[in-house]
Amino acid sequence: MDRAAAETMDLADPLARHRVQFTAADEDGPIYLDGNSLGRPSQAVTEALADALRDWSDNLVGGWSRWIDLPATVGDRIGRLIGAAPGQVIVCDSTTVNLYKLAAAGLAARPDRRVVVADADDFPTDRYVLQGLAAATGCELRLLNGGAIDGLDVDALEAAIDADTALVCLSHVNFRSGARLDVAGVTEAAHRRGALVLWDLCHSAGAVPIGLDQAGADLAVGCTYKYLNGGPGSPAFLYVRRDLQTQLRQPVWGWFGQRDQFAMGPRYEPETGMARFLAGTPPVLGLLAVDAAAAVIEAAGIPALWAKSQQLTATLVDLVRSRLEPLGATLASPSDPARRGAHVSVAHPRAWPWCRALTERRLVVGDFRPPDVIRLGPAPLYTRYVDVFDAVERMASVLEAGVDDTLDRPRVT
Ligand SMILES: *Cc1c(COP(=O)(O)O)cnc(C)c1O
Repeated sequence: MDRAAAETMDLADPLARHRVQFTAADEDGPIYLDGNSLGRPSQAVTEALADALRDWSDNLVGGWSRWIDLPATVGDRIGRLIGAAPGQVIVCDSTTVNLYKLAAAGLAARPDRRVVVADADDFPTDRYVLQGLAAATGCELRLLNGGAIDGLDVDALEAAIDADTALVCLSHVNFRSGARLDVAGVTEAAHRRGALVLWDLCHSAGAVPIGLDQAGADLAVGCTYKYLNGGPGSPAFLYVRRDLQTQLRQPVWGWFGQRDQFAMGPRYEPETGMARFLAGTPPVLGLLAVDAAAAVIEAAGIPALWAKSQQLTATLVDLVRSRLEPLGATLASPSDPARRGAHVSVAHPRAWPWCRALTERRLVVGDFRPPDVIRLGPAPLYTRYVDVFDAVERMASVLEAGVDDTLDRPRVT
């Protein structure tokens, strides 16, 4: 693989025309391979936010007649990207809060069962939320240890789900290694034992096909600021399969979940459909940004994005092997493409100073994850094959020149 081959792949790329919509796609700056942490802004989002500010200014409180349904309408758009029919997704709160709401609701829906099964290597907030829930309810949190690279072993996972398991809570794609689980297979295994499954889709929504309805999924959450490009802190989404909606009760009893909200009655009585999973006033500016950003993803189409993503990550894996492994780095993502998500990780004993040198010299923006990994997320909507090629060359040249390993590790990552 040389640069000319990468250029040829870019010329044949059916998604190449989408790149110009991204305002920050700067040809001379560092190569941005962190779209799995914070996606780039598109012109559509810039315009949507400008319109929203004008609307607020012109219409003031009168705008609410149009804004109040945004959690549901933007949710239906996200639903189309994750394989959910309308009326099962809403956009609200953060992933952390939504995970708490749905984990608590799922646990309460199986009152005769006391165990929550989860991954010891999952994203920290997911583990903390479940720890808090275990502390508050007295349920047992059963954390499974998988391989650092290949993730949970599916047989071990199945064996850990028993007649006492109320809920299984897992990430579709692991935030560090990019290891991907089979949503349909795990859901089916949990259902055979009578447990519900709550999926965290943060590292797959907007890049990897999910097919929630087809998989018979129960519950899911995910954020909108990674591959969905909704902007820093944009509101998250949550999914509840239609037939479960009225059975479940979430623990944050707010007025946006209340039936006949504006009657302002004395007692909480939840709405029948998805609105019962809302809590307070929706973040309108964030919702409008998510709507515009997700429309760009929808226009490109998940099948095309996933096809390109797989080619980008396969290219990256080949380059890591040929160019970085001889310099002491190793692939820290599954080598089987069928088990990977949309990002690739590289381990090196000096990953932290290496990553810092890449950022400070404005060469490549990836991110460091302890203990020794640099993550590279080539978001398929705006990353070119030459970006992947050049990024690996820049990473190699920094290693060849030698990285300063006297730098302290970050205390906050
Ligand atoms: C990014 C991410 C989150 C983020 O949660 P916030 O509430 O938005 O901070 C949660 N879980 C996973 C798996 C993530 O990748």
